[in-house]
Amino acid sequence: MQTIHGYHRPADLEEALALLNRSDTPTVVIAGGTRVAAGLIQAGEVVDIQALADASISSADAHVSYGSLVRLQDLIDSEDTPALLAETAMREGPNTLRHTATVGGTVAGADAESELVAALLAHEATVTIARPDAQVDVPLDELLDDRSLLDGGIITAVTVDAGGETASARTGRTPADTSIVAAVGRVVPGGFRLALTGVGHHPLLIEQDDIERLDPPGDFRGSPAYRRELAAVLSKRVIAMLGGAV
Ligand SMILES: Cc1cc2nc3c(=O)[nH]c(=O)nc-3n(C[C@H](O)[C@H](O)[C@H](O)COP(=O)(O)OP(=O)(O)OC[C@H]3O[C@@H](n4cnc5c(N)ncnc54)[C@H](O)[C@@H]3O)c2cc1C
Repeated sequence: MQTIHGYHRPADLEEALALLNRSDTPTVVIAGGTRVAAGLIQAGEVVDIQALADASISSADAHVSYGSLVRLQDLIDSEDTPALLAETAMREGPNTLRHTATVGGTVAGADAESELVAALLAHEATVTIARPDAQVDVPLDELLDDRSLLDGGIITAVTVDAGGETASARTGRTPADTSIVAAVGRVVPGGFRLALTGVGHHPLLIEQDDIERLDPPGDFRGSPAYRRELAAVLSKRVIAMLGGAV
């Protein structure tokens, strides 16, 4: 049973970062708060960023930028959102979750089964992180590989390259269930950008040749070998849909 001892709702980013970086009080950010509601966050105190974070969507030069507080349903409803992002965000959870959960929270949470995070990888997402000393832009794949890049920081925006044809393929126990493994792909100059869910501790950007070397964690829905096989089959399907040779 989690106990939260303090709740803060600062009006500006500077104050939020100061609260987050107190050395004597373990503190985490909450945005939509759905992970707190699901009992997935352990912390002494929380900093709610809803009064200060950006909830706007802007588009320029074939890139789309989502303020960290953009709700998943608003991402889906935006005309600027690439089709693959809208399609995968629809699968993040039920309507009530999509109206509450945010883009920043989804990226920071980086659930291993998040098809939206995989789609963001395919779309070359860059994550803007505000820290007490600076603001930095970090490629999403680097952030997923090194979570310490987010320590003491707050995601303020996620920006994607909106161009390129895309495709997806997935296997779940039922069509409505969370996928066991999903593959998404996007055509980029010189080839494909391929990302997978369900084969690691977070969604992975991967080269097709590296799939056989994957060592996925198994669970009651699929052993490591089954997941590796699904990864190979679904990746081939995605690449074939994008017109590549398999
Ligand atoms: C019923 C239910 C179903 C769910 N289904 C799914 C699912 O299918 N797929 C999935 O991936 N997840 C799922 N989740 C988990 C979670 O709800 C999602 O990951 C959600 O998108 C998180 O968004 P949020 O804005 O609510 O984040 P929060 O719950 O507010 O935060 C999530 C994490 O991100 C951090 N964080 C949030 N915003 C920022 C920021 N701007 N900067 C830095 N750190 C930040 C928080 O500290 C926390 O660690 C589910 C949860 C529930 C309750």
